[in-house]
Amino acid sequence: MVIIKNIQQLKQWRAAQVQSDIAFVPTMGALHAGHLSLIDAAKRNHQIIVASIFVNPLQFGANEDLSRYPRPFERDAELLREAGVTVLFSPQISELYPATFATQVRITNGLDKVLCGSHRAGHFDGVCTVVALLFVLVRPDAAFFGEKDFQQLAIIKRMNEDLHLIPQIIGVPTMREADGLAMSSRNQYLSEAERQIAPKLYQTLCAIKGQYQSLNELSGLLEWGKANIVKSGFNSVDYLELRSEADLQLTEIPQKARLFVAARLGNTRLIDNIAI
Ligand code: AMP
Repeated sequence: MVIIKNIQQLKQWRAAQVQSDIAFVPTMGALHAGHLSLIDAAKRNHQIIVASIFVNPLQFGANEDLSRYPRPFERDAELLREAGVTVLFSPQISELYPATFATQVRITNGLDKVLCGSHRAGHFDGVCTVVALLFVLVRPDAAFFGEKDFQQLAIIKRMNEDLHLIPQIIGVPTMREADGLAMSSRNQYLSEAERQIAPKLYQTLCAIKGQYQSLNELSGLLEWGKANIVKSGFNSVDYLELRSEADLQLTEIPQKARLFVAARLGNTRLIDNIAI
């Protein structure tokens, strides 16, 4: 595995790849088996795998966890090497965003205003900007993103279609711990007691799904779900909603719809979603 830390070196490497088949897996590091499942999916159909590690300041709000976000670079590099990654690109903030940087990529159809977008102002502008920038630099044939961040995946698909950046965006199912908790770099923030509570989020989604299939009455179930998450020990629920997979509009029709949740546990904000 080659570790590339600056743009010039990445451009040189990219220019040398003629008729290549390149898959790209962007990450913020603090890698877990969910990230590695994206690498595995990429390896199934592509020869050359580029992974990036970049904790993107543009997608963190002023009072979010940018400074405490875990950055175990050596361990991450080892995991990526073992996973068979060809190139690890990990640029410096000052090089990706020099003082003169003045461009923002933003979608305008409202996909970025619902769910996490209504609780994290500007978050998806930061995501779109960095992903577009990385796509332009890496120029992959396909990029792999987790369904764990389903809204992000939908927004990136929209941006990519609009701007014709790369041929393919592939979504990969969520990897979970044995007790159902969706793997996330932020799970490291949880205390032992919080870690016991955390799987209740997924369990509540599954309970709603089971009940909805027999009861067919959504709003009462969502109210029950929110109360159940708080009763389990979460501080608050940002949202618990059924939305269509295609356009993230609120829906009561279970076909091609997902239950989305975000909730706060101590100082940690956890998100999850399941197809219903
Ligand atoms: P992050 O490092 O959190 O920015 O995530 C990098 C990529 O890994 C994104 O495409 C995420 O959706 C994906 N990802 C994160 N957690 C999981 C998971 N539990 N299962 C599958 N993909 C994941």
